Amino acid sequence: MLKLRPLPTGTPGRNDGRRTASAIRSTRRQFLASGASAAAASALVAAPPALGQAAPRVVVVGGGFAGASLARALKKADPRIAVTLVEANRTFTACPFSNLVLGGLRSLDQQQFGYDKVAADGIEFAVASATQVEPGARRVVLASGSALGYDRLVLAPGIDLDWSGLAGYTEAAAEMMPHAWKAGAQTLLLRRQLEAMEDGGVVVMSAPANPFRCPPGPYERASLIANYLKTSKPRSKLIVLDAKDTFSKQRLFQNAWKELYPDHLEWVALSMGGKVTSVDPSAMTLTTDFATHKAAVANVIPPQTAGHIARIAGVADNTGWCPIDPVTFESKLVANIHVLGDATIAGGMPKSAFTANAQAKVCSAAIVKLLAGEAPSQPKLINTCYSIVGPNYGISVAGVYVPKNGVLTDVQGAGGVSPTDAPRSVRAQEALFAEGWFNTITGEVFG
Ligand SMILES: Cc1cc2nc3c(=O)[nH]c(=O)nc-3n(C[C@H](O)[C@H](O)[C@H](O)COP(=O)(O)OP(=O)(O)OC[C@H]3O[C@@H](n4cnc5c(N)ncnc54)[C@H](O)[C@@H]3O)c2cc1C
Repeated sequence: MLKLRPLPTGTPGRNDGRRTASAIRSTRRQFLASGASAAAASALVAAPPALGQAAPRVVVVGGGFAGASLARALKKADPRIAVTLVEANRTFTACPFSNLVLGGLRSLDQQQFGYDKVAADGIEFAVASATQVEPGARRVVLASGSALGYDRLVLAPGIDLDWSGLAGYTEAAAEMMPHAWKAGAQTLLLRRQLEAMEDGGVVVMSAPANPFRCPPGPYERASLIANYLKTSKPRSKLIVLDAKDTFSKQRLFQNAWKELYPDHLEWVALSMGGKVTSVDPSAMTLTTDFATHKAAVANVIPPQTAGHIARIAGVADNTGWCPIDPVTFESKLVANIHVLGDATIAGGMPKSAFTANAQAKVCSAAIVKLLAGEAPSQPKLINTCYSIVGPNYGISVAGVYVPKNGVLTDVQGAGGVSPTDAPRSVRAQEALFAEGWFNTITGEVFG
């Protein structure tokens, strides 16, 4: 693993100093221009910068699906770019497939990945929390107080839970009523609570209003908890209290629930009094406008916002999410900062790991062009979200997105969902595709 060489606090960005910013920019443009087209075709041969020419520096904050994908794609596209990946944790725990851990069908260590291979690509990997961004000085300050200068900054911090978004739900409450919406300790906590619950206990889940991380995620989770109850606690039941009337792959989920879990899963829509307005962890209750539900186990998925660092960098608007240019993923609010993944307002694109990875590849190509002073190409992005509804039972939704009037827009007629009347063999095949997808994406991002 390469060692980070941070700048001391108060030091101007490594690229600032004696030369003016515009002189540096034009040097960098010259430095990259020669190879930019080839870079776009991923065919650049690494060449050391000529004497006096500084390699452009890109700092990436967040080593999840978006940030780690971006760092690797960028280094591959042009090895001359100095890429630093700043990530708070030494080990990444993936959310996709974490619902299988809750359902007792997978272990958490199958969700965990290190950064050795990322660092072996020539990316500087810094285990650190970014605490400040200074767009004027073009530097990122780390929790240690040291700072990194950048030409382009990429923020890919994922989500934060909005602790002010649901009355009674605090960080302390989450220890009693886990969200498990960031995989790791919270996933294990919820799993242990489910295991410890007596047969006959009621599990209550609250699902948030849009937008939030992984639109089909709560319903995949509901399915897999119901599967666990059906097989291990047959007198128990799950009630899903929802702040929405409609959700992703709804018909497919509801058909499967009718068939597989008629006695173990009840979904309460917004219009039926599903919206949770407050929780009380000491009483283990969730309250809606219509009723108070007592839970033996409560899984509260609260409202969410873009990760904190995006908000303090000034790239989030008053929705709590980050508006971006759909061609370059550059912030619409702060120049030279790109935002990727769950933190963005990405038009029709859902907040998924597939999306985060696709956005990273587009952003990488755009940054190579921008550093060379060239115009980025118009992208076309794809997303596919698989959900596991039970053992050997998978469903999916896919979409294609292009920039239109400044927004990533769904291409009508492209993509779609799994057929509603498919035989079980198709569901089994989709469950295998889901596993193949997980292995492929985690292999590409971390392997
Ligand atoms: C239960 C569940 C199931 C899901 N299933 C699927 C699925 O089947 N398919 C799918 O495509 N998606 C799925 N998702 C969604 C997917 O997990 C997210 O969309 C994806 O992780 C987003 O990637 P990201 O890079 O934006 O954020 P993340 O993957 O969360 O990465 C963000 C990273 O940034 C780091 N970070 C944040 N702030 C800082 C800072 N200040 N300094 C340093 N580091 C920082 C964090 O530690 C983290 O590692 C699921 C999500 C959940 C909750």
